[in-house]
Amino acid sequence: MGTIISGDRVKQIAAKIEHKLINTLGTTLEEAANDEIYKATAGCIRDDIMTKWAESRKKSDAQGVKKLYYMSAEFLMGRALSNNLINMEMYKDYRQALWKLGIDFDEIVEEETDAGLGNGGLGRLAACFLDSMATLNFPVIGCGIRYEFGLFKQKIMDGMQVEMEDDWLREGNIWEVERPELSVEVHFNGYIEEHWTEKGLKIIHKDYNTVVAVPYDMPVIGYKSDTPATLRLWSARSKQRFDLHSFNEGIYDKAMADQAFAEVISKVLYPADDHMQGKMLRLKQFYFLASATMQLMVKHHKEKKGDLHTLSDYVTVQINDTHPTLAIPELMRILMDEEGFGWEEAYAIVRKIFNYTNHTIMTEALECWDENMFKLLLPRIYQIICVMNEKYCDKLRIYYGEHHEKISKMSMIGNNQVRMANLCIAVCHRVNGVSQLHGDILKQQLFHDSYNLYPQKYIAITNGITHRRWLALANPQLCQLIKDHTTGDVLKDYRIFEQILLFKNDVSFQHKYQQIKQQNKKRFAKYIEKKQGVVINTDSIFDVQCKRMHEYKRQLMKCLHIIYLYQQLKKQPDYLSTPITFIFAAKAAPGYARAKDIIRLIHSVKDMIDADPVIREKIQVVFVENYSVSVAENLIPAADISEQISTAGMEASGTGNMKFMMNGALTIGTMDGANVEIFEQVGAENIFIFGASVEEVGNMKRYHTYNPGTVFEKNPKIRDICNCLIDGELPKIGKQKYSDIYQSLLFGEYGQPDQYFVLYDLPSYIETYDKVYNTYVNHYDEWIQKAIVNTAKSGFFSSDRTVAEYNDKIWKLSTIK
Ligand SMILES: *Cc1c(COP(=O)(O)O)cnc(C)c1O
Repeated sequence: MGTIISGDRVKQIAAKIEHKLINTLGTTLEEAANDEIYKATAGCIRDDIMTKWAESRKKSDAQGVKKLYYMSAEFLMGRALSNNLINMEMYKDYRQALWKLGIDFDEIVEEETDAGLGNGGLGRLAACFLDSMATLNFPVIGCGIRYEFGLFKQKIMDGMQVEMEDDWLREGNIWEVERPELSVEVHFNGYIEEHWTEKGLKIIHKDYNTVVAVPYDMPVIGYKSDTPATLRLWSARSKQRFDLHSFNEGIYDKAMADQAFAEVISKVLYPADDHMQGKMLRLKQFYFLASATMQLMVKHHKEKKGDLHTLSDYVTVQINDTHPTLAIPELMRILMDEEGFGWEEAYAIVRKIFNYTNHTIMTEALECWDENMFKLLLPRIYQIICVMNEKYCDKLRIYYGEHHEKISKMSMIGNNQVRMANLCIAVCHRVNGVSQLHGDILKQQLFHDSYNLYPQKYIAITNGITHRRWLALANPQLCQLIKDHTTGDVLKDYRIFEQILLFKNDVSFQHKYQQIKQQNKKRFAKYIEKKQGVVINTDSIFDVQCKRMHEYKRQLMKCLHIIYLYQQLKKQPDYLSTPITFIFAAKAAPGYARAKDIIRLIHSVKDMIDADPVIREKIQVVFVENYSVSVAENLIPAADISEQISTAGMEASGTGNMKFMMNGALTIGTMDGANVEIFEQVGAENIFIFGASVEEVGNMKRYHTYNPGTVFEKNPKIRDICNCLIDGELPKIGKQKYSDIYQSLLFGEYGQPDQYFVLYDLPSYIETYDKVYNTYVNHYDEWIQKAIVNTAKSGFFSSDRTVAEYNDKIWKLSTIK
C-alpha cells in the first residue's frame, strides 16, 4: 500500500510541476528549457515551504520564546533545491516525478546558481549552522548582507587565475522574499551635537547620509522540522530611488552621488579570506549590517513585549568573527540616544546579549580600522567606543596596575586604530574558539591577558558540518548504505553513524562501501570532463586538496611533493605501481600575489608532467576551476586522500577535513585545528599525522632556531625539489619565474625565515606519504576498514552536535513546540 500512496504523490508532483510551467512561466513541458523546469520544480516545493514558514512564525511569536540572532558578514549557502527536498522528505518523490516527465533531475539541479555569499570556511559554517538550528527547532534568524555579487568566479587561463563577476541574481532568486515594510534607515558621516535638556544630555546626529536597508528573507528548512530558520539578508538602497528635487535644482551630480553612495554598499563581497582590508567601503558594509539588524531587533522586541529592559531575556546574539562587532556600540546607541537609557543600564543589557566566535589568530586577519576614517564615517559610534574603552581600561588598571604595556595591548583603541577583537572580548558574555586546540591557543596566546581576568568567558566549541548536505545530498549512496545497516534516523541523529562500526570487518559491507567510492570517482570524472574537458584515470588514487589558496594551508608543500615524485619517476619509472591523481581546487584572493603565483606553479608542474609520456601514466595533476560549494559536493565524495596540511597552530579548525572524513577519505595532516580531534575520534591507526606540533613551531619561532638552509644542505631530496623551481625545467615559465617562491622557502621574507615552515615539514610529509601510499596499494582491505572507521566516527563533527553545544554553553534557547 505504501508504494501506491507514494506513486500517487509522484503523480501529483509531476502534475503540479506541469501546472507551474504553464501558470507562472507561460510555457509547456515540451517547450520548456532546463532553467524553466528548474524554476517550476523549485516553485512547487517552495509553496510547501512558505506554508510551513508562515505557520512556524506564528507559533514562535505566540510562544514568545528567546530568539537567536546569528550575525555573519558571510553565508556560503550553495544551492538550495536538493537540500530543501531532502529536508522536506520529498527528494525521491521529486526525482521520480521529473523522471516520469522524461527529465533528468541532476541536470535540473545544475541550473541553480550557487548562493556564494562567502569566502570559505567561515561563511560555510554559518550556512551549516542554519541547517542544524532549524533541524533542532531553535528559533533563529541569520543576519547578513545581500551582496549583489558574491565571491568572484574563477577561470584559469594560461595557468593563471582570472576573476569574473558572480552575477548570481541575474536569473532571479526563487527562495527569497523582499520585505520592504521592514526597511530601516542607516546613517553615516555627519557630526554630533550634544544638548543639555531637563532630561539630561541629548545627542543629535546632524548632516548624515542616509542609506535605506531593505531585508530579503529566505527560509532555511530543517530536516523533519516544523521550525524553518530565517536567513535575512540586507540590501542597500538610496532613500529616494531618484532625487528629483536635486535634479530640478540642477544639482544632478548630487542626485546621482547619493544613489551611488547607498547602492554600492551591498554591491560586492570582499574576496579576501583570513586577511583584513581596511577599506572604507568594507566598514560601511559592516555598520550597515550591524545597524539594520539591531534596529529591527529592538523594534520587534518593543512591539512584542513593550519593555526593552527585558531584551536580554528574549534575544541572544552570536557574532561570527568580528565583522558584525559594530552591533555592540550600535545597540548602546539605540538604547541611549533613542530609548533614553543611561549608560550603565544600557551596558548591563548589552553585556548579556553578545557572544563572539573567533576564527583566526593570524595578525593580518585581525580587524582594525584607521581611527580617523572610523571617526569620520561613524562619529557617534566612535564616541561610544571611546567611552566604553575608557571604562574598560579603568577596570584593567585595577587588575594590571603598572603593566601599562598590557593595558595598551588590550585597549580597544591604540596606534590610531580601532581594534574590533579587543572590543569583543571586553564586552561579550562568551568568547569561543572553533576547536579545542584553537580554544587553548586563544587562552594561552592571543587573549591571554584577558583570559587571566575573565577565565569564565573563554570556551571552545569544535566546528561541525551538516551531514544532510555533506552526506545525504553529496553522497546519496553512502547515506543509503548507512541507513540500510543502522536503526534510527541518521539524518536526525548523528550518533547513529557509529552503528556501522559493527560492519567494519564485514566483507560484503566493505565491498559495497568500496564500490560507492568507485562510483563517486566515476561521477567526478564525468563532471570534470564535461566542465573542463579533462580526462582522469578512475583507477588511480584520488588525492585531494581543496580549500582557499593560502600560504598557511601549504598547497605549495603539496606541490613540492609532486615535484619530488616526478623526480623519483624520472630516475625509476616503476617507482609508483598504482597511479595517483592530484586534485587541487582553490581560489586566491585577487590581491594576494603569492597565492596566485602558487596557482601558476601548480599549472607549470602539471604541464611538466603532461609533457612526459611515461610519467603522465603515473601521476596527473588536475586543477578544478571555481571551487565552490557545488564543486565540493561533487569532489569530496570521490576523494581517497584528504590533504589537511596547514602549519600547526594556523588552521583554527577547518571544516573541509570533516567533510572528507565523513565521506571516507583518509586524512594526511598536521596536528592542527580539528585534525587533532579527528585523530582522537578515529585513533592513531586510522589517520596519517606528520610534521611539527604547535609546540615545536612555537619554540622555533621563540628561539629563532628554524634554519631552512640547513634542511636544504643536509637533505639532497629537498635540494633537488627546490632547485626545480629555478633550474628551467618547468615549462613555459623560464628560469626566473619561481625564484621568488624559492627565495621565500630558503631565506624567508622581511628578515624572518619562512613562517609556514614548508621545508621543515616536507621530509616528514614525504615519509608519511609513503606510508599512506603503501597502505592503499599493498593493504587495500585495511584501507577500506580505516575509511569505514572514519565515516563511523564522523557523527561527532555534525553541526547538530556543534549547535547543541552552543546552546548548552551560550544561548540557552528552548525549542519551539
Ligand atoms: C568546507 C568549505 C571550505 C572550508 O574548507 P577548509 O578546508 O576547512 O578550509 C571552503 N570552501 C568551500 C566551498 C567549502 O565547502
